[in-house]
Amino acid sequence: MSEASLEVHVGLDDTDTDLEGCTTYLTFRILSRILSEVPEVFFLDYPLLIRLNPVIPFKTRGNAATSFSLRIPESNLDTIRKLVTTEFLNYLEVIKGGGVEPGLAFLHGKVPDELSKLYKKALTDYVHRDYVTKLINKFSEFIEVPLGYSRGLIGALAAIGASTTLTECTYEILVYRTRDNYSRERCVDEGSIKVMDKIFRNQTFLNYDYENNKPLIMPSGRNPVLLGIRGEDPETLVRALKTLNLCEGFEGWLIYKTNQALNAHHVEKHIEEFRPYQTGCVTGRVAENPSIRLGGDVLLKLSSLENEHSLWVVFFSETGLGKIARYLMKGDVIRVCGGGKWWEDLGLVIHGDLLEVIELVNEILKNPLCPRCSHRMKSAGKGKGWKCPACGYRASNLDKERVKISRRVAIGTYRPVDSAVKHLIMPQSRIGRRSVCNKPLISEWIYVHKGG
Ligand code: ATP
Repeated sequence: MSEASLEVHVGLDDTDTDLEGCTTYLTFRILSRILSEVPEVFFLDYPLLIRLNPVIPFKTRGNAATSFSLRIPESNLDTIRKLVTTEFLNYLEVIKGGGVEPGLAFLHGKVPDELSKLYKKALTDYVHRDYVTKLINKFSEFIEVPLGYSRGLIGALAAIGASTTLTECTYEILVYRTRDNYSRERCVDEGSIKVMDKIFRNQTFLNYDYENNKPLIMPSGRNPVLLGIRGEDPETLVRALKTLNLCEGFEGWLIYKTNQALNAHHVEKHIEEFRPYQTGCVTGRVAENPSIRLGGDVLLKLSSLENEHSLWVVFFSETGLGKIARYLMKGDVIRVCGGGKWWEDLGLVIHGDLLEVIELVNEILKNPLCPRCSHRMKSAGKGKGWKCPACGYRASNLDKERVKISRRVAIGTYRPVDSAVKHLIMPQSRIGRRSVCNKPLISEWIYVHKGG
């Protein structure tokens, strides 16, 4: 009789500091070891790279968490558990700097709906530790936290929850540097990135910023990632990678399924329900003409279409949205998406990452023209009608004149420029693409350099 098999999900988060470390790299190391040491394992899908709420203050960089799902013979469970936990702990020894609250979680069996709910909340809201502690207690038969309770479990369990929640996905192939190279500048031939972009741009995105002549596939700073190519299809990502001219050695690569570039954090909300540390979209009327701050950031007040509530919105100049928002005026109707932060002087301010102009004011009311000399009249005082400043003519029965105005902004949806597109945001080049999450595992989903 064949041995019973088990479904096991592993979630990881918070293993990086400002100085070093990367949860995706740790996941790569764990998966490489599983593949070489436990050949009986069957991978149910690509590992997940899940971006969570971008306005959460605890994040180091892109608020990433990872998870992977396996089917294993029951007798291998202990080996997997030990391997993952040891590799996790070894990695924490290697990274320097404080501030980490590492989270490692195992889930045995099917993913409960509550974890799917946790993913949605962690993506769009603030999650309190107690919320997760309660979940772990409720499912104590199925959830294991070998390193105990920590903040990192929020992301780790949310990343497991995402595995049954994503209906649309993108993929990213991440290439990892050899450790000796970490402090050197990344070496990928720029010309080859442009050539790759030309060939694969219909199925990849954010490869090269032609406005600023800068590759977008390479991160900055001391972290293990040499480059990442994002796109719609795993096979294409491997082909795209193979066209690049890499002028430094690398340890291997891993393809992730992700929730990136989908605007997954854009959930509709009413103005009065938006709170700091939440993400979403609100529709309202511009309450005052926008003000332009030093550096070009544009600030405006948005009031509800249904009630007296209002909030502030800022479009930072680097997003390019300020260039549009500065031409909005009182009365325009817009939809804004982004994340809410608390400003000492203003209260709740949405940091806008999408602007939809829905309705534009196209006429304004002006004082009437003088029927005698055609000069614009002035008010003669409250309830006293109009007086012409040129000829002195007075009138009490004239109405204000409706004057058509031309606007420097058009109805439409505006998105950040490529250089300012953060992980969850859908870049202009992805508009209209639909990526269903059913791409089969290809043989090259992970590659480990021999001797790596
Ligand atoms: P990187 O992108 O470099 O991997 P990071 O930006 O992902 O780093 P982490 O070091 O993972 O940052 O820290 C994020 C922390 O915030 C984790 O402990 C995670 O569990 C927690 N967290 C994530 N989303 C939320 C949320 N919505 N509410 C509360 N805590 C959260």
